[in-house]
Amino acid sequence: MLTKVLDKPDIWQIHVELPQNPLRNLNSYIICTSEGNLIIDTGFNRPECSHDLWAGINELGLDLSKTALFITHLHSDHSGLVQEFVDKGCTVYMGEIDYNYLVGDKEGPIWPYLEALFLKEGLPADIVGRQATENQARMYAPKSIFPAVLVRDQAILQLGDLEVLCLHTPGHTPGHMALYLPQEQVLFSGDHILFDITPNIGIWKDVPASLSDYLENLKKLKDLPVRLTLPAHRASHENVYQRIDELIAHHQERLEEIYQVVASSPGLNANGVAGKIHWSVRGKTWDEFPPHQKWFAMGETLAHLYYLVDTDRIMRQEDGETMSYYVTEQKNCTELHTRIEQLLGEQIRPVLQSHGGNVRLTDCREGIVYVELLGSCAGCPSADLSTRQFMEDTLKVALPEISKVELSNSVDQDMLDFARKLLRHETP
Ligand SMILES: [Zn+2]
Ligand SMILES: [Zn+2]
Repeated sequence: MLTKVLDKPDIWQIHVELPQNPLRNLNSYIICTSEGNLIIDTGFNRPECSHDLWAGINELGLDLSKTALFITHLHSDHSGLVQEFVDKGCTVYMGEIDYNYLVGDKEGPIWPYLEALFLKEGLPADIVGRQATENQARMYAPKSIFPAVLVRDQAILQLGDLEVLCLHTPGHTPGHMALYLPQEQVLFSGDHILFDITPNIGIWKDVPASLSDYLENLKKLKDLPVRLTLPAHRASHENVYQRIDELIAHHQERLEEIYQVVASSPGLNANGVAGKIHWSVRGKTWDEFPPHQKWFAMGETLAHLYYLVDTDRIMRQEDGETMSYYVTEQKNCTELHTRIEQLLGEQIRPVLQSHGGNVRLTDCREGIVYVELLGSCAGCPSADLSTRQFMEDTLKVALPEISKVELSNSVDQDMLDFARKLLRHETP
C-alpha cells in the first residue's frame, strides 16, 4: 500500500506487512526528486515483504537507475531485501558501525556471542537453541554480504537540491542512523523513536552501555527542530518531544521495577528477573512467551540490569557458569554476614561452647554487629560483659569495618509492649 506523506519534498510511504510479527508492518519511505530518489528500509527477506515493497515502487514508477537505498540499521526488517536492490544496480547507503555488525554476523561472531552470554544469564538452553529456526531476525536476514557506501554521523546525501543529513542515533542498535531534512525539518526516526510501541533496547557485543547510549541520544534529539517525524513502524504522531519524554520515563520506570525485583529476590539471574517483571505482550505470561520473544525480553532485561550495575545500584556476581544480581547494599551486607558467621564458627563458638554457651548473629548494620547469647551465657550479666568484649575484639581484628558488638535484647517484644502500656496507665 502506497501513501503520500508530503508534497514538498515529495515523500511516499509503503506499508510493508511483517507477517506473524508483533511489529505488524514496516514503513518504507521514498523521497522523490527529479534528480534522484532515496528508498529508506526494505522489510524482511521474505516473499511477502518483497511483494509489498515492489508493488509500491512499481506503482510510483521509480526510475531505479536514479534510485538509492538507505538502511537505517542492521535489523532484518530494515535490511532484509537489500540484495534485490544490489542486483538492480542501486547504490546502498548504511551506517558504518551497523554495517560492520551485519558483516560480522554473516561471519559468525555476534549470534554465538549472544547465545553464550544469554545461557550464562540463565536463559534455558532449549530456548537459546531454537533461535536459529524461530527468530525472524535470523530467518529473514540478508542472504549474503552486500556492497554499501558507509556513512557516519553528520554525513550529507545530496538528492538534487535536497540535503539529507545522517544522524548517528545508537541505542536500539550500535550504529542506528536516523535521517533528517534540515530545510523541511522532517525526521526519519527509524526504530530510534516509535510512537505506538516502545523500541527494543537490547545488548550487543562490544557495546558496554546500550541503554545509556539510547537515553543520551533521545535527549540530544530534543534540540532538533522537527515538524514531522516518520517512524519505521506503525503510526506517526505529532509531538516528537512529548514522545521522547515518554520513552525516557518508560525506561526510568523499567529501571525502578527491575531494581525492586532484584531487591526483593537477591541472587536472581537475568532470566529470573525477566520472568518477574511486567511485559506488555497482551495476555501472555512469561511462561507463555514464544522463544523468540523471550530472546528480545532477555536482551531488554539485561540492558536495564547493566545500566543499574553501571550506576552502582546493583551488583553482578559471577559464579563460574552463572551470573546473579544483588542490590549493592544487600550484597555488601550479605558478604559481611558471611564473614561474621565464619568468624563466629571458627573462633568464637568453640570458646563459648567450651562452657555450654553459644551465640546467634541477629543483624549487622552500620558497623554494629548484633548477637544473641544462648545456652549458659544467656541472661548472665557478667558473662554478657566479658563475652561481648571477647567477640568485639575478635571481630574487630578480622573486620576493621566492625566498630562494636551489641547484645540483642532478649526480652520478648510482647512483654515490652505490655510494660509500656502499663507505664502509660493504659489497660493492657
Ligand atoms: Zn530495529
Ligand atoms: Zn524495526
